[in-house]
Amino acid sequence: MSMEEIYADSIKDPSKQPKKLLRKAYDGTIIAMSYAEILLNRAIKDFGTEQQVGFPDTAYHLPVITCLSGEKVTKLGELVPILNRMRNQVRTELTFDNARLWGESTLYAAEVIETVNYLRGEEPKTKPWTGFLGDPIVRKHGIKMVDWTIPGVAVILGRAKDSPSAKKIVDNLMGKGFMIFLCDEIIEQLLEENVKIGEDYIAFPLGNFTQIIHAVNYAFRAGLAFGGIPAGERENHRDYQRRRVRAFVLQFGERDDVKIAASMGAIFMGFPTVTDQPLSEDDQIPDWYISEPDYEKIVALAMEVRGIKLTNIEIPIPVNFGPAFEGESIRKGDMFVEMGGGRTTAYELVHMVGADEIVDGQVTVIGPELDSIPEGSKLPLGININVYGRKMQSDFEGVLERRIHYFANYGEGVWHVAQRDLCWVRVSKDARAKGFLMKHFGELLLAKLKQEFPAIIDRVEVTISTDQATVEAGLIRARARYQTRDDRMKSLTDESVEDFYSCLLCQSFAPNHVCVVSPERVGLCGAVSWLDAKASFEISPNGPNQPIPKGASLDDLKGMWQSTNDFVYKASNNTIEEVNLYTLMDKPMTSCGCFEAIMAIVPEVNGLMLTTREHSGMTPCGMTFSALAGTCGGGLQTPGFMGIGRTYLLSKKFIPADGGIARIVWMPKELKDFLRGQDFAQRAIDEGLGEDFLDKIADESVGTTVEEITAFLEENGHPCFDLEPLM
Ligand code: SF4
Ligand code: ZN
Repeated sequence: MSMEEIYADSIKDPSKQPKKLLRKAYDGTIIAMSYAEILLNRAIKDFGTEQQVGFPDTAYHLPVITCLSGEKVTKLGELVPILNRMRNQVRTELTFDNARLWGESTLYAAEVIETVNYLRGEEPKTKPWTGFLGDPIVRKHGIKMVDWTIPGVAVILGRAKDSPSAKKIVDNLMGKGFMIFLCDEIIEQLLEENVKIGEDYIAFPLGNFTQIIHAVNYAFRAGLAFGGIPAGERENHRDYQRRRVRAFVLQFGERDDVKIAASMGAIFMGFPTVTDQPLSEDDQIPDWYISEPDYEKIVALAMEVRGIKLTNIEIPIPVNFGPAFEGESIRKGDMFVEMGGGRTTAYELVHMVGADEIVDGQVTVIGPELDSIPEGSKLPLGININVYGRKMQSDFEGVLERRIHYFANYGEGVWHVAQRDLCWVRVSKDARAKGFLMKHFGELLLAKLKQEFPAIIDRVEVTISTDQATVEAGLIRARARYQTRDDRMKSLTDESVEDFYSCLLCQSFAPNHVCVVSPERVGLCGAVSWLDAKASFEISPNGPNQPIPKGASLDDLKGMWQSTNDFVYKASNNTIEEVNLYTLMDKPMTSCGCFEAIMAIVPEVNGLMLTTREHSGMTPCGMTFSALAGTCGGGLQTPGFMGIGRTYLLSKKFIPADGGIARIVWMPKELKDFLRGQDFAQRAIDEGLGEDFLDKIADESVGTTVEEITAFLEENGHPCFDLEPLM
């Protein structure tokens, strides 16, 4: 069904247009347009038409305009004809069809207004208000929005009837795992109630009313970055928003005409508005603009009209649970108890056992519980998870074990980092005050494992020990298992296996993207190894990870097989004909949007550089991570650029066709530190580059321009100059 057909369904009798609402929306549009024109004219008077404009940290110019019309605005004067055009599309007849165009014009107006505000330095500068959200944030969190890791997006503006009600609604949404954008006084109301908001909670307090446009430009950039939809393809962008971004608007308190016009902008994108104001029938549009004064019902109704269903099961624990808490950190002062992280003995282990060695559904705690220790304690920790399943394989133990990290962090007030015998856990005072115990920690892991892996797990039993002697004994057993697994991993090479695996998970938002995952090349998100893909195929045989029987190769050095070509061609909707696994210069793998790092060539020094999602600064190829991601993301094959998972750098199959790691001339310090921890030195020795090769690679302390790094590379005898010419 096209978008226009969907709208047509809501007002079946064209003579029954909601005149009252449409009148206000029209008036609001005129006000918004005039206001934008006034601000723009004044700005031109003060700064001139040549004045550079733009938002910070984005490669997408003024994103709403970029998406909808394809115009890449960089100067103030360029906005004049754009705004004129938008004013000309405002027709006076009060119909729902026209209202969506008013909405579109209002979005343009809001973007112009905010552009001028940024030019004048009037954006919010104090925390927690965020203003414009840069591309790094879109890339980090936007993916959860379009791949539906989060169930939906709530844009809330206005002022709730009182602060406790505001808190209740936001708590409800957070508990369900929503991404939230906030505008207007509700932000103060939530702060008054000590609700935790900010990037860590994927609840963004944008600013005042016009800053709502930053939720809009965030959503549009997701279409560009993850959907691979070219700038200016207006209908495709709208379609992407409606299909992938499950958003709705909650409008609290007094409505003015401009707010109503802005709601038409949301409707133009496919997002309904629900308001808490009691409204007559001709002040509403069925399915799109509706009234629900009852705060107990408003969220459920908004979800219903946007078609959002929760698949999450209820877990019997006293704290909230969901991806909204994934980024939450627990500082020392907020912590009730701490375990592992070098402070105490700790480990976590998933172990496959026989059918008669397990009591399904049992959670046992051995040693002191949280209700018997003082605040600020440290405890040893042993997490033993026994699993049994007819289709379980010992190869999958590590796959399940790494999920502990995500599951644990989903708990509000529970924080987890690292893995195996390096794991580190904190529980907050808040969680403890709500009654959280280690038993609940076990319940949470048990429930999530069962929920996410029903195909390979039939029985789960969790034993948590906090008793020193028990933990120490368990640690010895755990280390023996880790060793066995590591030995097995070492024996897995691209040559030694029969099958590679596809990953099509990112096609939900990058429709032509295909990852080919081999034992020696992890998926570019870093989260899907060959073993993960294999396990996932067992879990859902028709799912995103399919075996690709390797067969004979066409090119050993570049890594091309007939089988992978055939698979990729079909899976990329006949867009990618050939792909090489071991080079970035010739038909490289496509890049979606969730790569951990990006490689790009630096032709001047015959080398290549890498930058990471964590590094926001400039790089020697003249682009930041965001700009690079804009160049090669969205499921494109871009020779000379490629997204990768970090651990691919440690692989013997790291672009051998291009000279391997010897090609690397620059990377951020942060990535160097990561590689040091992963024994990159051994890789360098194996390649005959010497154990100090990492020190020959430049980083941001050396410089971020080709000139700055060239001298450094020459002084340090970097091998790049002796390699075959890259191009
Ligand atoms: Fe799968 Fe590749 Fe997406 Fe990772 S980046 S989820 S491996 S398609
Ligand atoms: Zn991806």
